[in-house]
Amino acid sequence: MEREIAWNSYTEETLSEVMALAERYKAYLSTGKTERECVTEAVKLAKANGYSCMYKAVAEGKPLSAGDKLYLNYMGKCIVIFIIGKEPFEKGMNIIGAHIDSPRLDVKQNPVYESDGLVYMDTHYYGGIKSFQWVALPLALHGVVVKKDGTTVTVNVGESDDDPVFCISDILPHLGQDQAKRSAGDVIDGEALDIMIGHQPLKGEEKEAAKANVLKLLKDKYDFEEEDLLSAELEVVPAGKARDLGFDRSMILGYGHDDRVCAYAQLEAMFSIDTVPEKTVCCILTDKEEIGSVGATGMRARYFENAIAELMHLNGEDGDLKLRRCLSASSMLSCDVSAGFDPAFAGAFEKKNAAFLGRGVCFNKFTGSRGKGGSNDANAEFMAKCRKIMDEGEVKFQTAELGKVNQGGGGTIAYICALYGMNVIDSGIAVLSMHAPWEVISKADLYEGYKAYREFALKA
Ligand code: MN
Ligand code: MN
Repeated sequence: MEREIAWNSYTEETLSEVMALAERYKAYLSTGKTERECVTEAVKLAKANGYSCMYKAVAEGKPLSAGDKLYLNYMGKCIVIFIIGKEPFEKGMNIIGAHIDSPRLDVKQNPVYESDGLVYMDTHYYGGIKSFQWVALPLALHGVVVKKDGTTVTVNVGESDDDPVFCISDILPHLGQDQAKRSAGDVIDGEALDIMIGHQPLKGEEKEAAKANVLKLLKDKYDFEEEDLLSAELEVVPAGKARDLGFDRSMILGYGHDDRVCAYAQLEAMFSIDTVPEKTVCCILTDKEEIGSVGATGMRARYFENAIAELMHLNGEDGDLKLRRCLSASSMLSCDVSAGFDPAFAGAFEKKNAAFLGRGVCFNKFTGSRGKGGSNDANAEFMAKCRKIMDEGEVKFQTAELGKVNQGGGGTIAYICALYGMNVIDSGIAVLSMHAPWEVISKADLYEGYKAYREFALKA
């Protein structure tokens, strides 16, 4: 039961839409390299598309009307956007959700040190990475330093052509005999993932003169002290823009497709809706998925539930029971990337149940590992409903599991939202080299993802 290749169904007109969407996505991906930056960009796009701040509506106690478009920017790290439907909340919502945090290296709280004339920033990796992939490539530094007086200094170094970049060194092959004996997980120790940030000594300084020089440059440029790094969130990410991949430009090589490709497809789906939906539609872009959906901005936090309670209050639907009815009557696509079949590593997949680049949006009935452990495992009834919506909307889709049995596995936010008793299924875009500094997607799958999320938002 092989699924159709999406590319084969495109007219010239559709092809130009596919390519145009890819251009807009590349711009988003190249600007949004941290969860904060993804939220900032999403807010800009939402405002440009007629959405207004939910806090303002709540503060004013303004009753909602069908068709209202609102966004919730939560702590600058996650965002939920809503189109209020004609039906009451109690009847349930159509939800599409993705995450906007990606694997990276986080700068430690006490990071700067000098060793034998080189100055480093110490990092602690975030999410599942292969350490050896992060050495000997240009890296950029993105994030914030928050000073005691509450002012926030934004840092973004390594993306402009004339910016410096940072790097983690590797041992030359000539002297790599000991390293070559290690297993892949130990080739580069996690604690050795420190970026080089300088080496020119400050004139007149005797001790740690190169470090003193870097700290002076930081003070001059950003007006913060070493101690201010105690309250900083600086993320080390691959430097450079997302780019077309292949002579035919059919794919995109970029940092953070997991899961910004689904996030962006969702945003475009929301912005394309120009009718008043029957049910309220919402799009969640959440943080912290890569480390277990923890913290105040992760999916396990109550920010989403709280936001719904606020909106229901504005809609005259008060009370815990109505809130619970709303959440359990909702339907959700948990939109997260899936492992694309990679001919170079065919042995990790079971081909009949693998996602292939270019065959459209991918439904994962279940994820998890070792006998579906930790997965959501959607109901057959709900999968049937999704198939119907996709077929009627002429969306190219495929189904897959994450690799072959007992090869490993993974999870998403699906099981968390399912705790409310709502129907949830994983539905994402196939990625090659997932969690590597540069990941690969097909432009056709991005387009089918966008279509899938739009159809679901309107028709679930
Ligand atoms: Mn993901
Ligand atoms: Mn991931």
